[in-house]
Amino acid sequence: MSMLARIRPDLAAFRAYVSARSSGMDAPIRLNANESPWAGDGSSDGWNRYPEPQPGALRERLAALYGVPARQIWIGRGSDEAIDLLLRGFCRAGRDNVVAMAPTFGMYRVGAQLQGAGYRELALDPRADFAFDAERLLALMDADTKLVFVCSPNNPTGTLYHDVLEFLAVRVRGRALLVVDEAYIEFAGVASATRLLGRHDNLVVLRTLSKAHALAAARIGALVAHEEITAFVSRIAAPYPLPAPCVELALNALDPNSLHVAEARVATLLAERTRVAQALVALPGVIRVWPSSANFLLARFDDAQAALKRALSAGVVVRDVSGQAGLDQCLRITIGSREENDALLEALHRVRALPAARRHRVRHALEVQENPASANGGVP
Ligand code: PMP
Repeated sequence: MSMLARIRPDLAAFRAYVSARSSGMDAPIRLNANESPWAGDGSSDGWNRYPEPQPGALRERLAALYGVPARQIWIGRGSDEAIDLLLRGFCRAGRDNVVAMAPTFGMYRVGAQLQGAGYRELALDPRADFAFDAERLLALMDADTKLVFVCSPNNPTGTLYHDVLEFLAVRVRGRALLVVDEAYIEFAGVASATRLLGRHDNLVVLRTLSKAHALAAARIGALVAHEEITAFVSRIAAPYPLPAPCVELALNALDPNSLHVAEARVATLLAERTRVAQALVALPGVIRVWPSSANFLLARFDDAQAALKRALSAGVVVRDVSGQAGLDQCLRITIGSREENDALLEALHRVRALPAARRHRVRHALEVQENPASANGGVP
C-alpha cells in the first residue's frame, strides 16, 4: 500500500499554492512576483527575488551526502519543520495518534499537540540503558496511528537504536510511517537508515546541518523518504521555505573542503566525549554517565540543581532535563571545545559533596523510584 493512503483524507486532492517560482513560467524580465526590481542597499545581487522553493544545487549536494536520489530529498527550515509537516499532513486532529519513546526529543509531542493528534509513549528504562522492547512500542499502535518516531541517537539519552529499525519498518508497513530522526547520526559511527529506503517505502529519515555541520543558524534540515512522500511534503509546505542566504551557507558547508573539516570536528568531539565522560564518572557527586552516540552526555548527579548552579556561576550552561520521565537528577551536557569542557569540569569539581548520610538517602531514593522492589530489600 502506498503510504499516501495514510495521509489525511481531506488532503488527498489538496492543490498546492502555485507561486511565481513554482509555476514554471520564467523570463529575463520578471514582473510576476511583486518583487523589487533592485537589490537592497548593501545586499547581494538577487536577494530582491524570491528564492527557489527547493534549490536544485543544494538538493543534489544533500542527495550525494545522504546517498539517495535528489527526488528523495525535501529540504526545510531545520528538521523541526519536517516534523511539523509530517504531523500536519498525516494526522487528523482529534482522531489520529503518533507513537514515540519517553524521554525523547520534545518537538514530537509539541507538534502532535499543536495538530491535535494523540501522543502515546513508551517509557524507557534508565537501568536498562534506555534499551526498548520493540514489541511494547508496537503494542501502543492502533488503526489510527500514523507516525512512529524513533530518535536514534536519542536526545537526551544518547542511545542508538539503529539495530531495530528494519524490524520496525517491516512491522509498521502499510500502517504508519517510521520516522527515524538522525540529527546526531554523524557522532554514532554507524550507517544511516537512508540505506534502507530502497526496501521500505514507509521509512522517513530526518537529517540536519545543525549539529555535525555546524550550521544551526541557517536552519537547514532534510526529510529523506520515498519520492511520493517528499512530493506530498513539498505540496503542503510554505511556498519559499529556504532563504537564499541560508542556502548559500549550506552549499559552502557542503563543499568537499568543508566536509573534510566537519569530519575533523566530529573526530575532535568524539575524543572530547570520551574524556569528559571519564572525568565526570570520577567526580564524587556524579552517580551515572550513560553511554552516548551523540555530541552530548546524559549524567545523573546526587544534586543536579547544585551542579547546574555551580556551572552557571562559572559561566557554563548545561541542559536541565531532570523534569523528564525517568531522568530525576539528570543533566544533559553538550560536548564543547576542550576549553569549554574544562571550564565545566572545573566548576563541577567545586560542587560540595553531600554529607555521606544524605548522599546515601538520595541514591537510595533514586534506586527505589526506578525499582520499587528495592524499597523492601528486593522482595516484590
Ligand atoms: N531532532 C533532534 C533529535 C534534535 O535534538 C533537534 C535539535 N535539538 C532537532 C531534531 C531539530 O534540529 P533542526 O535544527 O534541524 O531543526
